Amino acid sequence: MHQYDQLVRFIFRELDVRGEVVQVGVSLDQMLQNHDYPFPVKQLLAELVAATSLLTATLKFEGQIAVNLQGNGPIRFISVNGNHLQEFRGVARLQQEIKGDSFRELVGDQGHLLVTITPQQGERYQGIIPLEGDSLTSTLESYFQQSEQLPTRLYLHTDIGAEHSRAAGMLIQVLPVDPQKARVDFEHVTTLSDTLTRDEMLDLPIEESLYRLFHQEVVELYPAQPIRFVCGCSREKCESAIISLGAQVIDEHIADGSLEISCEYCNTNYQFDAAALENLKIKL
Ligand SMILES: [Zn+2]
Repeated sequence: MHQYDQLVRFIFRELDVRGEVVQVGVSLDQMLQNHDYPFPVKQLLAELVAATSLLTATLKFEGQIAVNLQGNGPIRFISVNGNHLQEFRGVARLQQEIKGDSFRELVGDQGHLLVTITPQQGERYQGIIPLEGDSLTSTLESYFQQSEQLPTRLYLHTDIGAEHSRAAGMLIQVLPVDPQKARVDFEHVTTLSDTLTRDEMLDLPIEESLYRLFHQEVVELYPAQPIRFVCGCSREKCESAIISLGAQVIDEHIADGSLEISCEYCNTNYQFDAAALENLKIKL
């Protein structure tokens, strides 16, 4: 077993192209374990986790990215949030029964991809594009084409099991230096990276995949960044949310006898009985 749940960025010394590889395993299980998603939904969510990690790693600042798919298919929306620390969480909501497992059968014939980038400092950026082709990959490549105008190739693979799941992805992107040279370099690098199989991308340690593909080039690897599932919920955050409801609304819940808040990311239930709610009212 090699180290999973990490992302590695790399550059070529002589080519105007950069890349990233990601593999998620345990963190993916943690995200999926408290939900009862149908298999194809797990698959798409796993792809989205790998993709969001790759997307987040393209940020040149501290902040977070939310990648959201919405459509008229069985999946009403599916979204993953990631930040520059490579912490992520994700959720899917269904509106109809799942009848097929292709991207379009899940998301619908009409829909869009919404990418929201929120820097810790500075303006929030939102990019919205219609779904493209029959995969998350083609839709995201189209997003890169429109938002960054940089040729980008994306590979996403998943292995969803009853006990454990895995996802892996690779991103190859042109460096905006010399467009003509970059186009030739991009062609060269993607021709090589096209040869990496699904199994290799999932099974081989990242360094080994990169060596297999690019051993004739000088590749510089950045230190691996660990990836973690962090949903961010806590009893304290629920308490603040309840306090912000105000006395009148809290009184209504006290009259009901209790209030239950559940985290949509990890499904933890937080229970507040009348006495606990009375205690929170004091903090108003
Ligand atoms: Zn949670």
